[in-house]
Amino acid sequence: MNFFNREKSLKTTVLSLFGFVIFLIIVIFGIQLLYIDNQLAKKSINTKLNSLSYNVESSIKSVEHINFSTIEMLSLINKKYKNEQDENFKAYIEILKLQKNFYAVYTGYEDGSFYEIISLDIDENLRKLYNAKETDKWLLIKIDGENIAKRELLLYDENLNETSKKVELDNSYNPTKRPWYKLALENRGKSIKTPPYKYSHIDTYGMTYSRELDDTKNVVSIDFLMEDFKNIFIDNIDQDSMDLFLFRNSDKQSISSITKDDSLLEEFFKSYENILYFKEIKIVEIKNKSYIVQIAPIKNSSQDEYIILFADYKKIIQPYHIQTLKLMMTLVIIGLLIIPVILYFSKMIVKPIIQLVKESIKIKNRKYDSISKVDSSIVEVSILSNSFLCMAKSIYEYQDSLEQKVEDRTRELSLKNEELFKLSITDKLTGLYNRVKLDKVLQENMDRFLRYNTIFSVIIMDIDFFKNINDNFGHQVGDDVLKESAEILKNNIRNVDILGRWGGEEFLIICPETPLSGAKELALKLNKVIKEYSFRTYPNIVTMSIGCSSYKQGILTYNEIISNADKALYVAKESGRDRVEIFE
Ligand code: GH3
Ligand code: MG
Ligand code: MG
Repeated sequence: MNFFNREKSLKTTVLSLFGFVIFLIIVIFGIQLLYIDNQLAKKSINTKLNSLSYNVESSIKSVEHINFSTIEMLSLINKKYKNEQDENFKAYIEILKLQKNFYAVYTGYEDGSFYEIISLDIDENLRKLYNAKETDKWLLIKIDGENIAKRELLLYDENLNETSKKVELDNSYNPTKRPWYKLALENRGKSIKTPPYKYSHIDTYGMTYSRELDDTKNVVSIDFLMEDFKNIFIDNIDQDSMDLFLFRNSDKQSISSITKDDSLLEEFFKSYENILYFKEIKIVEIKNKSYIVQIAPIKNSSQDEYIILFADYKKIIQPYHIQTLKLMMTLVIIGLLIIPVILYFSKMIVKPIIQLVKESIKIKNRKYDSISKVDSSIVEVSILSNSFLCMAKSIYEYQDSLEQKVEDRTRELSLKNEELFKLSITDKLTGLYNRVKLDKVLQENMDRFLRYNTIFSVIIMDIDFFKNINDNFGHQVGDDVLKESAEILKNNIRNVDILGRWGGEEFLIICPETPLSGAKELALKLNKVIKEYSFRTYPNIVTMSIGCSSYKQGILTYNEIISNADKALYVAKESGRDRVEIFE
């Protein structure tokens, strides 16, 4: 038999139900912990990355817009030819002052001449590199196409006073060989930008915006530092749990990043090459640590930049897990607090039920007077108890009346039985014993005789010419004569003698312990009283012929004795009736 078929107590039922609910809660929270929290964590990273890439994109767009406007404006004011180049000095400085992310402004000329102003505030390394003082703000680099090996380096302070001048004769830099120069000439009449690249003198990435000065094959450029994105990154992510890189897909190089571990991107690309796979959020293992990783493209003109976000899986999922576990703990505590309440309520139901069972046993044992009401604060149980009490009362009353009835009926029945018994041994007309009783008494006397030799005699009496009474006076008178004869006989015998109706108008008397002589004496007496009696409805004298017989050695059945008495009766009839004969 399984659990569900077995009988269970209410307490077990309630506790099983409760256990089942707890089990469900554990399953639900298990799913929450293993699956849903995971999804939520991924989703939060995905949202973060999307907003981040959007921010970077819009930031790039707005910066690009400024940068392109700046290069266009610069191409208008820039002096077109190299002999006018010194006139650009102030304009370049103004532009560098204008934008903190402009690193340098320069013009490359068709013959290899070059005129550049660099902002020394951009990077501390620059001052070291060019032996500049703390007060130096600007570096001017000049190359003359007619003497390409010569390079002039001039430093200027805040007030644009020249503080130092250096001439190098080992220059190998030729602007016309640079990508920005070539690209600008390829796109004549348009502003261009180079893809991001790492600057040689400072440890940072940047882009160059360039434009040809109208049909001169001279190109003006601005170097732009991409450092700016870091601030967007910092504003958008939690640096404790996340690492982020802006990288170039073509060579998988990081352009900008905020990271604690620079080798993370490198390690990542060692294992994974297909960046498309990470368009969807993924969980990967890098250096024995789980990361949630997603890559989003930066939609700008170069189409080669992407953002990759590494989120420390454990750290990201932790708050979700803590939240779930807290909720689970709360529910478990509530559950534990509920147990005593459940037990209390089940006891409240079970206790009166058990009491009711005890009361019902009292009904079984018929202890009606000791049955009491079961008190319960639960309405339904109270109703049940009341109806139970009513039931007990009704059963008691019913049983009581039933017992009374049975008693009455039994009494009636025994009376009837008695009556029936009397009837069964009584002749209806005369009220004397009938043949049934006579046979029984005869057998008893015979048995006693055979066992103890106690003697007995029988007397058979037959009314003479009875037929004539019937014939002449009618059956009713005949019956009256029979009844009155019986009465006379009854009144004239001892009460130990047994008198009965033997047949139609024949009577039999059994006289215990009486010898034949005694029987004859009685017969003679009876013969006399009948003769002398005057019947109420019959006017004439009634006589009887009587035959007597008694025990005899050798007789084994009472029929023989009866038969002998019959023989004596026959003799009495034959010899003139109204007489007594004995069988000798
Ligand atoms: P006997 O002297 O030879 O005895 O002649 P009897 O007429 O008395 O005898 P018999 O046997 O010829 O007739 C007996 C009659 O008794 C016949 C029957 O109708 C009548 N009888 C028997 N039982 C009853 C009874 O209960 N009531 C009445 N009224 N008549 C009875
Ligand atoms: Mg007869
Ligand atoms: Mg007769």
